[in-house]
Amino acid sequence: MTQYVHMFSDGDRDQKDLLGGKGANLAEMVKLGLPVPPGFTITTEACRAYLTVGKVPPEVRVEVTQRLRDVEDLIGRTLGDSEEPLLLSVRSGAKFSMPGMMETVLNVGLNDDTVHSLAAFAGDERFAWDSYRRLIQMFGKTVLDIDSEHFSDILEAHKVAAGVTADVELSADHLKQVVADFKQVVERETGSPFPQTPRRQVDMAIEAVFRSWNTERARLYRRRERIADDLGTAVNVQAMVFGNLGETSGTGVCFTRDPSSGHSGVYGDYLPNAQGEDVVAGIRNTLALTDLQERDPAAYKELRTAMRRLETHYRDLCDIEFTIERGTLWMLQTRVGKRTAGAAFRIATQLVDEQLITMNEALERVTGEQLGQLLFPQFDKDAERIHIATGMGASPGAAVGGVAFDNASAVARQESGLPVILVRRETSPEDLPGMIAAAGVLTARGGKTSHAAVVARGMGKCAVVGAEDLVVDVAAKEIRVGEHVIHEGDTIAIDGKTGEVFLGDVSVVDSPVMTYISEGVEAAVAHLDDEETRELVEAVHRLLTHADEVRRLRVRANADTGEDAQRARDRGAEGIGLCRTEHQFLGERRTQIERVVLAKDDTERDAALAELLPEQIGDFIDLLTAMDGLPTTIRLIDPPLHEFLPDLTDLSVAVALADERGETGEEVERNRALLEAVRATHESNPMLGLRGVRLGLKIPGLFALQIRAIAEAVVRLRAEGKDPQPEIMVPLIGSNRELVIVRRQAEEILAEVSEVTGQTLDIPIGCMIELPRAALTANRIAQTADFFSFGTNDLTQTTWGFSRDDVETAFFPKYLENGVLTISPFETLDALGVGELVKIGIEKGRSTKPGLKAGVCGEHGGDPESIHFFNAAGLDYVSCSPFRVPVARLEAGRAVVLTDEVGTR
Ligand code: ADP
Ligand code: MG
Ligand code: MG
Repeated sequence: MTQYVHMFSDGDRDQKDLLGGKGANLAEMVKLGLPVPPGFTITTEACRAYLTVGKVPPEVRVEVTQRLRDVEDLIGRTLGDSEEPLLLSVRSGAKFSMPGMMETVLNVGLNDDTVHSLAAFAGDERFAWDSYRRLIQMFGKTVLDIDSEHFSDILEAHKVAAGVTADVELSADHLKQVVADFKQVVERETGSPFPQTPRRQVDMAIEAVFRSWNTERARLYRRRERIADDLGTAVNVQAMVFGNLGETSGTGVCFTRDPSSGHSGVYGDYLPNAQGEDVVAGIRNTLALTDLQERDPAAYKELRTAMRRLETHYRDLCDIEFTIERGTLWMLQTRVGKRTAGAAFRIATQLVDEQLITMNEALERVTGEQLGQLLFPQFDKDAERIHIATGMGASPGAAVGGVAFDNASAVARQESGLPVILVRRETSPEDLPGMIAAAGVLTARGGKTSHAAVVARGMGKCAVVGAEDLVVDVAAKEIRVGEHVIHEGDTIAIDGKTGEVFLGDVSVVDSPVMTYISEGVEAAVAHLDDEETRELVEAVHRLLTHADEVRRLRVRANADTGEDAQRARDRGAEGIGLCRTEHQFLGERRTQIERVVLAKDDTERDAALAELLPEQIGDFIDLLTAMDGLPTTIRLIDPPLHEFLPDLTDLSVAVALADERGETGEEVERNRALLEAVRATHESNPMLGLRGVRLGLKIPGLFALQIRAIAEAVVRLRAEGKDPQPEIMVPLIGSNRELVIVRRQAEEILAEVSEVTGQTLDIPIGCMIELPRAALTANRIAQTADFFSFGTNDLTQTTWGFSRDDVETAFFPKYLENGVLTISPFETLDALGVGELVKIGIEKGRSTKPGLKAGVCGEHGGDPESIHFFNAAGLDYVSCSPFRVPVARLEAGRAVVLTDEVGTR
């Protein structure tokens, strides 16, 4: 029979699927002998059962009773007891930590009777009533779904009446009154009194956790983080310990290293005489961990020991929640902590140097996405700027945008294409949509472990928290600071590293990591004066070098000009995987192509083409010079004709106007001829029309021109002592026969140039695989192709039948919302469908030509998850935009260590 409920002492950290992250790590801490209040975990399986049938399986109730009795026996207190009542916390905990799920309910088990026994038993009346009011408040909000403002308004009113500012200053008598008022709110809002039976409180809280799996916020978060909807959450029920038992008690959050800078050395916030979420909520300002050392050296020492043990055990940065009850330390949570991109790199190499992990493991701990963040520009220190406040830099980055105070306006602004900074006094899980929409987050309250800080770090989003000089008036939609008043929509700039806030726009410069990528490690550290950044650059250098050593995939770039190619090479590109030659025909040269299209006969066309030849040779000389010695794949002209011709409507209007005005002349005649050509070539679906190899075969001379230009460029560069390595690539092949024709023509031209110049021209000729038919007949195409390059953009369009430009705005949002798609297949390769065609293409191609070189060009070549797929599929290289090259290098290395391929080659 399925067991739905497990004592903490029965589990371990590998059971995250079943026990959730929190439950599994609590169990692990118990196993390590750390002081954890006893409790049990109700499994995700129970949640899934609940979600399927809509009610808690009856077995769960029975098992909860049994495990509750175990907990009662362990600590010698009983739920609902009139002398020594057991109180519980009920906490949600999914496999992946998930803001947006039900928040923890503390002090479950208190009612009108047990509140008195608790007071007597703890010898502290104020404490008991404070605990009771917290229970009603949390239970009311999270289990009964009552708007939390009803409670906070009452609390505020009582503070005003009592003439105090902090809730700790309210006396027992005040709190009794607060409790009475809170109970009325519950009765008024739900129609029933606050549940007095402790066990009923437990059961209701458990069910509420299960239910919270499917709230709007939780779904939104899962979609964004691509967490499956059917995992379900576990529930942890645990004996309470009390941080609100006076000045020798308190609660805190700590990290074994600084999660924002990666600085080694402990880091944390502590709040005396407080419970639960007080620290994270930023209600009162917290003390640093060092203050705890002074207040309670013994508890501090014990905490430090526990931190060290956890870090050694997990061999990573741990994030810990703890409570001190009258001088005794209790561990309430741990997990491998989220960190900023910079911290990830620094911590990974620190742990290597401390001999806690290997270089391969270090590579597993950093991601291409994090590296990408480190490449973003930073604020220019020398730029003119108006400094208005400084808070804590909680998540680095440089963000500039218009101020928004709530979700609706943040989302609206972002949807109209404007950057936005979400500004709040403090954030809570309700603010998630606004945070997602924002380029950066700014709060006036809270520390580095506040909700805003933690969530922003998780998203890799710039955040400044606790900028206390700011008076954030959400109701009036303004921020007041010094003599400034900032309104909704006004531009501000925030620096998530230094915590600075500026009024207006601030210009940006290259980040030090970007300087490293393009100029090398020495050049980058030479002009750095702070140790922290130097350490970061060196960490990136070590990890990227290691990735380069272990990776199997080569990394090329997509570049069309000599300049782009140089940029790509500076970033470590090992060749060009795709040069889109059509980009060379746009702009000024467009009229030359027009002449090719309009030519009345072969002579006229040849003349027009001949004029283009020197220019094409020049293009290829630039490109091949920048890529000297490295493979350079040049794709023959690809897009539909209409992209080179004027717009049909524009032309029709121009011609009609000229006719009406009776205008004549050369210009008018040309337009008339053009209009005719445009009409003649007009296609209702150009994406599936005359383009790629089809255009090359239909208008002879176009491909020939390009092939000749490549050959001539090679000859000239060789004469200069250079080593050009072009590869000719034919687009949109669907049938081997197409390639046979182009290849024959190309070989003739190469032979001709060879004969004239006396140079051997063994230029590889290959093709794109970007139509399903090409993948399915790859065994035949490989007879003719020297290499394959998977054009996964078009392959995605043609496999799904999606026209990218049309579908992305038309219905992708809907498809993402209803789960048909979890991410755009244009962003991350659709492994199941498009990926299958890639695999078939490689397999069939190599069945004809073992070892056939195969790469991928298209945006997927720079996407981490897709890169891992291409590595596993056995491709030889990926090609991506020059900016993504470092990311692709790192991910290609990670693909190897994550699949344990190291050393198997
Ligand atoms: P989250 O998932 O938001 O971190 P937790 O379940 O960790 O929520 O609960 C939040 C806070 O509630 C904890 O950090 C701790 O301060 C408090 N808490 C939870 N369980 C207990 C307990 N058994 N005794 C005392 N405090 C608790
Ligand atoms: Mg927690
Ligand atoms: Mg294509």
